[in-house]
Amino acid sequence: MATLAQYADHALKIKSQECRLRTLNTVKRNDGIYLYQENKRYVSFSCNDYLGLSQNSALKHAAITATEHHGTGAGASRLVTGNHTLYEQLEHAIAKQKNTESAVIFGSGYLANIGTIPALVGKGDLVIADKLIHACLIDGIKLSGASWYRFTHNNIKKCEELLKKYRDSHNNCLLITDHVFSMDGDIAPIKELVTLTKKYDAWLLSDDAHGFGTISNRNFPDDENHIQMGTLSKALGAYGGYVAANKTVIDYLINNARSLIYSTALPPAVIASAYTALKIINQDPKLCEKPLKNAQYFTKCLNLPLAQSPIVPLILGNEGKTLRASEILKENGYLASAIRPPTVPNNTARLRFTFSALHTKKQIKELANTLLQHQLV
Ligand SMILES: *Cc1c(COP(=O)(O)O)cnc(C)c1O
Repeated sequence: MATLAQYADHALKIKSQECRLRTLNTVKRNDGIYLYQENKRYVSFSCNDYLGLSQNSALKHAAITATEHHGTGAGASRLVTGNHTLYEQLEHAIAKQKNTESAVIFGSGYLANIGTIPALVGKGDLVIADKLIHACLIDGIKLSGASWYRFTHNNIKKCEELLKKYRDSHNNCLLITDHVFSMDGDIAPIKELVTLTKKYDAWLLSDDAHGFGTISNRNFPDDENHIQMGTLSKALGAYGGYVAANKTVIDYLINNARSLIYSTALPPAVIASAYTALKIINQDPKLCEKPLKNAQYFTKCLNLPLAQSPIVPLILGNEGKTLRASEILKENGYLASAIRPPTVPNNTARLRFTFSALHTKKQIKELANTLLQHQLV
């Protein structure tokens, strides 16, 4: 048997040969859309901080005040003594924003998904999910032990075919989709999926991590079979995840979602900054429109299909080519991460650009020109 270090070394060498090795790079991020690495400044097109709120002075102030009043840590799980007073007002505000009766906050978006899915379905139940859903939804499904099948991305017909084939032989059935797809930037047919839930006696979980605060602030009618989850860590510039649904479903999750029950509550500072972010989003709808407008300006500059969300992929296919493209951009002062399998399907390695309210037209135009100059589009 190999030693642990030998085992790890072998596995890392294979990753490296495949151009799939990942490393942690230290970054300094305290200057709006700019990011610093080894004292060099880059314009970032890779942050999910769509509204620049992670550095907003009102959020910082809220975090500091909350820390002074409540301390740095919550001290226990929410079900024990960690449920500090700030939770209630934020959950109330999220439910209002999402047009649902109730909401519950989890430690992160990841924890929300791996807690919620196994609470709703298990052995003998059925999950039908879009092919390109986020990794943490897949982890949640695997944890649940339910049977699961995936349909061709955004293809409602294929989804219905799977329902026809498998629905009757299972107990409960949960459909799962990203709302805005995290690596592709396109949008799921939520209304059509809700219609399928009615036709086939199913429930829907949609993950709005990238839409909340950017394109989908309040666009679904409340539906008793639709569970909406999302994160406080992207446009809201804070941390944490949420699930919004009717009150009975939320009460059920509080009793059954293990990632909520067996994990410490979030620090007061985080909840206070997310609450402040939500207030800003409601007071300043123009701010929320900017990331999409910037993404659309970029796609127009390059004659690409018009962006549907602040995320624009440029699929290059091969891992090595994508890494080199990312390097070229870096040499020109732009940060756009190379996204490789297994995060995306094989042969679809890509540059993934995310647009923020803070980018200027000039920065976007110059990025587009750099891509053209180096024949990357
Ligand atoms: C980022 C992301 C998550 C995870 O949210 P965190 O709060 O970062 O854990 C879940 N789903 C999707 C689609 C995401 O993009």
